Amino acid sequence: MNYRSLPGILYIVATPIGNLEDMTLRAIQVLKDVDLIAAEDTRHTQVLLDHFEIGTALTSYHDHNERTKARPLVARLQSGESIALVSDAGTPAIADPGYRLIVEATRAGIHVVPVPGPCAVTAVLSASGLPTDEFLFGGFLPAKKQERRSKLQELRNERRSIVIYEAPHRLKESLDDIYHILGDRRIALAREVTKIHEEFLRDRISEVIGQIAERDIRGEVTLIIEGSSDENAISEIALRDEIGKLQSDGMRIKEIAEVLGEKYGYSKREIYRLALQQSEQTKF
Ligand code: SAM
Repeated sequence: MNYRSLPGILYIVATPIGNLEDMTLRAIQVLKDVDLIAAEDTRHTQVLLDHFEIGTALTSYHDHNERTKARPLVARLQSGESIALVSDAGTPAIADPGYRLIVEATRAGIHVVPVPGPCAVTAVLSASGLPTDEFLFGGFLPAKKQERRSKLQELRNERRSIVIYEAPHRLKESLDDIYHILGDRRIALAREVTKIHEEFLRDRISEVIGQIAERDIRGEVTLIIEGSSDENAISEIALRDEIGKLQSDGMRIKEIAEVLGEKYGYSKREIYRLALQQSEQTKF
C-alpha cells in the first residue's frame, strides 16, 4: 500500500477573528501541506493565504452547499488526499459550516484532527470578568422576536455564564429582551475583538443599554451574560411587584431604589425609573 492509498486526514483549522498575528504556526504549516482547503468563502480565505504565502488550492464549503459537497470531499479523503477546513474567521463548525463534513468523515473512518486557535467564544469569555469555570454557549439568538424570547425564557434559570453571538443590527433589540427576561444582570459586551476598534463594555445590562442607546453599533459582537443566581434571580415583573408593595407602604422612590438596588444588585437608577413609571401609572 503506498502512502497515497492511505485515507487522508481532515484538519479543522482555526484562523484569526481579526488580528492576522493570531494565526498559529501549525495552522500555516497544515494549510501549506494539505492537498486542498475547503473554505466558507474562497475569496475571503484567499486573502489570508496570500498574506502567509500559501499556494494550496481552494474549494468552497458553506451552508448552502454542505449537503452536496460533504460526500465528494469525503471521497477525496478516502482516496488519500488531506483536506483542511477553514471558515471566514475563528474555529470552523462553531456557529460556522463544518458539522456535516465532520459527521460524514468520522462515519467513513477518516481521521479528523483539530488545529486549534482563535475562537470568539473563548477569547471574549476569557477577558469578560464574568465566571469562566463553567459556561453555556447559546450560539446566535433567533432573529424572530417570539422565538428569541422563548429561547431567553429557557435560559432564565441557567446558572452558568451564557455566551451569545449577536449581529450588530439586532443588538439593541436583543439586549432589551435579555434585560426584560433575565433581569438586570452583569454583562460583557465585546466588539471587534483583536481588531483596531476592540471594545469591552462590562456593566449591568441596563447600564450597557444606556451606554449604547445613542450609538450606531457596527462590527462583530459577542455577549457574555452572567448566569442566574439568587442575587439576580428576580425578574422585572417580580421587581415591579415589590416596588408596588413598598410604594403602597408609603416608601419614597429614592428609598425604594436604594433598598431594592442593594437587595438584588440592580442599578438604582433603573429601579428609580421603574418606580417612577409605576407611580405615574397609578395616578391615572
Ligand atoms: N466560528 C467563529 C468563531 O470561532 O469565533 C464564529 C463564527 S459566527 C458566524 C460569527 C460571530 O462570532 C459574530 O457574529 C460574532 O458574534 C462572533 N465574533 C466573530 N469575530 C468576533 C470578534 N472579532 N469580536 C467579537 N465577536 C466576534
